[in-house]
Amino acid sequence: MAEKKLQIALYWAAACGGCDVAVLDTNEFILDLAQLADIRLWPIAVDGKYKDVEAMQDGELDVAIFNGAVRNSENEHLAKLLRRKSKILVAFGSCAHMGGIPGLANLARKDEIITRAYLNNPSIEPGNQKTPCPETQVNGFTLHIPQFYKRVYKLNDIVDVDYYVPGCPPAPHQVKAVLLAIAKGDLPPKGAVVGASELTVCDDCRRKKTEKKIRRFYRPYEIIQDPERCLLEQGILCMGAATRSGCGVRCPDTGQGCRGCYGPTANVVDQGAKFLSSLAAIIDSKDPAEIQEIINGLPDFASFAYRFGMPASLLQRSLRT
Ligand code: SF4
Repeated sequence: MAEKKLQIALYWAAACGGCDVAVLDTNEFILDLAQLADIRLWPIAVDGKYKDVEAMQDGELDVAIFNGAVRNSENEHLAKLLRRKSKILVAFGSCAHMGGIPGLANLARKDEIITRAYLNNPSIEPGNQKTPCPETQVNGFTLHIPQFYKRVYKLNDIVDVDYYVPGCPPAPHQVKAVLLAIAKGDLPPKGAVVGASELTVCDDCRRKKTEKKIRRFYRPYEIIQDPERCLLEQGILCMGAATRSGCGVRCPDTGQGCRGCYGPTANVVDQGAKFLSSLAAIIDSKDPAEIQEIINGLPDFASFAYRFGMPASLLQRSLRT
């Protein structure tokens, strides 16, 4: 008799869609996945409905792969629903793992975001500004839209999470390894960060470090890079020292500084603070005024150092929000 297929769900919450594309990027492995598993919910590819999930027994799904942060009431409902219906819940990608780029919205107040997106956005025709209403009457029907929260949450702020797969998006080889590990029941201890290591991106990086210090920071387009040398030692921001490896050093290999999407290693409490300490070590000055001037050359430090992890940081959000 054929072995029972895995029952799986994939869901996309507050995210850009790149994590779902990463699953599709496994190419023909998708066909193997279809042999191994019944996909019971995957809004980007399969016509399953929320009510089908609601009708399942608790624990009926073997695994739910949840990408995206929790930004509104629909995201929260699905996080809680999939937690109840699944034996294993995986936070997949930076947004579910740490809040991701949507988490940068924790630096602004809800009313500022609504005003910017729906009232002052230059792409909106003058006179056509409308803000979202949670409830609208249309032809005798009441339509509801999800409630927009004051802040963005990472998945484990809302529900218990079994495993984390970091990355924006996770690399396709990682996606495949994780899905095969689940299919074989070959799983690490609960709470593990899967498909990554406890080394940093710097540990895996092929660029040479020479302990050279810098007197200014550059955006990548402002400097002709030495392709062999450490980017940070050339003044280009790179979060390699503050970031968990596993991505294959994809950004520094192409001349872009690491943006930190795999999050910190387990022994780092706050990724942005760790990055700040690596910057402090590289500045070639002891004069406070000159140091301040060099620091003033940093473009929007909070958005760089916490680009993928503001909700997971010690700060979590701006106190204005
Ligand atoms: Fe490589 Fe960036 Fe680390 Fe330099 S700081 S060694 S470029 S990962």
